[in-house]
Amino acid sequence: MASGRDEANKLAAEYFRQLGEAGETEIYLPSVPGRADAPKAHSTVKTSDVAATPEAPDVTATPEAPDVTAAPEAPDVTATPEAPDVPTVEIVKVKLAFSREATTGDMFAGSTGLETCTTLEQVEARSVGCQNCELAGGRTNVVFGAGNPNARLMFIGEAPGRDEDIQGIPFVGRSGQLLNKILEAAGIERDDVYIANIIKCRPPNNRTPLTNEIEACLPYLGRQVALIAPRVICTLGLPATQTLLGIRGSMGSLRGKMYVEGNVKVIPTYHPAAALRDPKYKRPIWDDIQLIKREYVKA
Ligand code: SF4
Repeated sequence: MASGRDEANKLAAEYFRQLGEAGETEIYLPSVPGRADAPKAHSTVKTSDVAATPEAPDVTATPEAPDVTAAPEAPDVTATPEAPDVPTVEIVKVKLAFSREATTGDMFAGSTGLETCTTLEQVEARSVGCQNCELAGGRTNVVFGAGNPNARLMFIGEAPGRDEDIQGIPFVGRSGQLLNKILEAAGIERDDVYIANIIKCRPPNNRTPLTNEIEACLPYLGRQVALIAPRVICTLGLPATQTLLGIRGSMGSLRGKMYVEGNVKVIPTYHPAAALRDPKYKRPIWDDIQLIKREYVKA
């Protein structure tokens, strides 16, 4: 008497024989005697059903090519349902960091000799060998800034992270990828803006920059801003916001307002890293970006 295994082998052979008969979209499966869960005699199974069985692996989903946009930590800001109307915001007159430090009356001049630099390339060249604070000892690259040298909109973040330190380019890590998405969703070309940080070298373990480090590095940013002459500046996160505005407070209390000196408007928002950590920051960032877009279009 044939064993159950022999019977199964016969069935499998019959199954593959039928598969070999080209062109059929339905496969004929004989029943398995004695098995309650066996298909009924002469039952048919569509090949599409076979393909949909959970045992059929999706080889297109190679583990080496993860979809970073689907990462749970990276909220999809492009999915924000609607672009809200920008409400009227409070306007606060300020003296920005560069004019607070200036001795010449030039808003962004500073007193470090960098005012003799007339191009961004000259300022960057001065920063490359900088030893003005202890962060010089741990850096791979000075991360000076990147973007349109004539940008009307400038983003200023905190400090380079690991990816930025390695590549020497600001906002290329996960925060930068999220910032790109936000800009794209808002209809702002990244190539049209300029992006820099208040600190040009990576702090160890991405810690918050110290006051003396910020003071040492600020002249580079001041000269960058003077040469680019943006009309709108978006500060990303608390250190950049407090540094430029010279106002203490939480991000929750500082954002949602527009700070003005002369023809420059500063609009703070949360750092994209905050939205990566907690999706609740997506909405205020999106609202702030709407205000930034409105002022950028007008500038
Ligand atoms: S962080 Fe700024 S001040 Fe400090 S070493 Fe780097 S470039 Fe110089």
